Amino acid sequence: MVRAIVGANWGDEGKGKITDMCAENADVVVRFQGGSNAGHTIINEYGKFALHQLPSGVFRKGATNIISNGTALNAPYLIEEIKMVSEGLQAPVNLLISDRAQLLLDFHIKRDVYEEERLADRKFGSTKSGIAPFYADKFSKVGIQVWQIYGDDDLEEKVKGICLKNSILFENLYKKPPLDPGQVMAEIREVGEKIKPYVADTSACLRQAIKEGKSILLEGQLGALRDIEHGIYPFVTSSSTLAGYAASGAGIPPSSIEEILAVTKAYSTCVGEGPFVTELFGDVAQELRSRGGDAGEYGATTGRPRRVGFFDAVATKYGCEIQGATSVALTGLDVLGYLDEIPVCTAYKKDGKALAQSGSGVASFPNVSVLNHAEPSYQILAGWKKDIRGVDKESELPDNAKRYVAFLEEQLGVGISIISTGPKREETIVR
Ligand code: GDP
Repeated sequence: MVRAIVGANWGDEGKGKITDMCAENADVVVRFQGGSNAGHTIINEYGKFALHQLPSGVFRKGATNIISNGTALNAPYLIEEIKMVSEGLQAPVNLLISDRAQLLLDFHIKRDVYEEERLADRKFGSTKSGIAPFYADKFSKVGIQVWQIYGDDDLEEKVKGICLKNSILFENLYKKPPLDPGQVMAEIREVGEKIKPYVADTSACLRQAIKEGKSILLEGQLGALRDIEHGIYPFVTSSSTLAGYAASGAGIPPSSIEEILAVTKAYSTCVGEGPFVTELFGDVAQELRSRGGDAGEYGATTGRPRRVGFFDAVATKYGCEIQGATSVALTGLDVLGYLDEIPVCTAYKKDGKALAQSGSGVASFPNVSVLNHAEPSYQILAGWKKDIRGVDKESELPDNAKRYVAFLEEQLGVGISIISTGPKREETIVR
């Protein structure tokens, strides 16, 4: 059985917690896109961890974890992460890295940093992890796949070519020092040695696992609205965050994905730039931010304060639809217990005219220029004014919390199968 766990929003929905929880019975957990640019927070019996590249199944003994072909492999960062997790676990991590994954190298990070510096006020809000230059190189066919470290006789020539092009850019556009091909080769050889024990044909491993009826989780990074094709372009990531891409990014048949669990928070958060229609400011925002997540809403990778807002059912309905969600995991319901009334955004408007809405019908999500001028239209629900942190039985939820969940289901047009009432694994209601 193959199941994808993906984000319905702008990322940070709590996918790490949900994947860690769902990984209990999984045989294989796969990261199929992205790199070290986003973090998944996991709190379990071994401690608190922010995983950036390792799949969230690393804490489940017996589960195989795969970093597949669709990812951006920042190997030095990964090695550090392996060290941190294996110390916490007091056991080696059970990991395979695709021989078709591509290397994210130091010059990708430099290019990202230099470009954001150059753009200044027009910046995209990059995490400066080299992701955009990495995927640009991948699709320009000048990337380096892992197998090439060990079996490409022309690798040195290719690296010289890569350095030449980058150096022209570095020296002329950014006024920075050129690249030294010798140094880049040394970096590649060094990471090659370190990751060698993990390298495998992971697509074949996965197809074999499917044949044997094993349970496989595909773990998405970021969320639908940061998808390169269907998100708020250009304020998106440079890969596809959708379950539809998971098949290609992992190297499995699309028809093998049976379940798609879209994760969304009971309120909205957004790190980085781009339109965010329900964004709150001032004291109301600060209150929600400080109560959210496990210790306030601050980015797991960057520490940046997250932009916060009330639940955006318009964006989330679209996120669920474009992900193809078969059900939804709703996280952070506990966070809203302090509110007398809880607004939910069910429509976007401009000058009193509806631009988009949640509820019945197919979601249509406006483009960025329309979103920039959209105003949220809220329906107000009664709060429950009770601390529900850790509640693990639906019957113990206050009636207004149950009504809130039912209202969101109605607006999204898809069932909520998991309700999370705290950052810890056991703080969960499975319906
Ligand atoms: P991910 O990238 O989607 O895994 O999300 P992050 O880990 O970046 O952000 C989610 C934040 O919410 C983390 O701080 C989690 O520990 C926290 N979290 C997850 N589920 C819940 C929940 O149900 N309640 C609360 N209060 N925090 C949660």
